[in-house]
Amino acid sequence: MAMTTHRNLEKIITGQATRDGAGVKLTRVLTQDLQQRLDPFLMLDHFASDDPNDYGGGFPDHPHRGFETVTYMVAGRMRHQDSAGHEGLLQNGGVQWMTAGKGVIHSEMPEQESGVMEGFQLWLNLPSHQKMCAPWYRDIQSHEIPQVSTPEGVLVRVISGEHHGTTGAMNRPADLYPTQPLYLDIHFLQSAPFEQFLPPGHRAFIYVYRGQADVLGARNQRHTVGAQRMGILSNDGDVLVLQATAGTRVLLIAGQPLMEPIAQHGPFVMNTRDELIQAVQDFQRGQFTA
Ligand code: FE
Repeated sequence: MAMTTHRNLEKIITGQATRDGAGVKLTRVLTQDLQQRLDPFLMLDHFASDDPNDYGGGFPDHPHRGFETVTYMVAGRMRHQDSAGHEGLLQNGGVQWMTAGKGVIHSEMPEQESGVMEGFQLWLNLPSHQKMCAPWYRDIQSHEIPQVSTPEGVLVRVISGEHHGTTGAMNRPADLYPTQPLYLDIHFLQSAPFEQFLPPGHRAFIYVYRGQADVLGARNQRHTVGAQRMGILSNDGDVLVLQATAGTRVLLIAGQPLMEPIAQHGPFVMNTRDELIQAVQDFQRGQFTA
C-alpha cells in the first residue's frame, strides 16, 4: 500500500494593505520577508475593489528584470503593453504570463471605468541561467484554462501544473524551468473535500479569497484558514487535503525552490548586488527598450 503524508498548515499570514503603481489599492499577501521560505515565489498581490478610485490609475510604464509576473484576472479588464512590442487584453478569468528576463518596460492599465476589478499578481523567480533570457509573454484567455469538476463538487481551474491528470494552461520542460509551478484556482461548489498531490520539498501555500478552508494535516491536525488569509504549508508530505463549504475559493500555489541567493531592488530581482547595480544602470541607459 502506498503511504501518503498530509501537508500541515504551518503558519497563517495576514496580508499588508498598500498601494502600488499609480495608487492602485491592493493587499500584499506574499511580502519580501517570506521570499526565502516560499522560494521560488517572490510576491503575491490581491486587488479587489468596485471603487474606480482604487484601481483607475493602473500601473503606468515601469521596468522588470530577472523573474516572471503571472497576473490572474478574476473580474475586470486590463490592457498590457510592453517595450518588446507585445500588447494584450487581460479579462474575466484570463491570465497573463510574462517573462521579464533581461528586461521589459510595460504598463498594466484598467480598461473599465466602473464595476469590480479583482485579481492577483504573482512573481515567480527565474533560475540564474534564465534571468537574462529574452522577454516573453503569453495571454491565456479564460476558456484556454482547463477546468476539472471533482465528483465531490469542486471546480478546479488548472492554470499551471497538473491536477489529477489534467495538465494546466502553462507547462514547460523541467530542465529549462526547474521551479515547475503549480497554480490552481479552486472553487468549492458545495461542502466538499479537495486533494492535491504536491511533490515533497516543493514550497506551497494557499490563499483563501472567499469563505474559509480547513487544512487537514498529518496526525489529524485540522486548522482553519479564513478569508483573505494565506496559509503556508509544511515542506514535507506529498498530499494537501482541504475541506471547505460552498462558495469558498482558494488559490493553491507550489513550486520547487531554486535555493539561489535572492537580491531585490524594487522591480529587479537578481542573485547579487552587483547584478542589481547593473540592472539599474542598464535601465537608466535605456537598454530595456529592445
Ligand atoms: Fe509590472
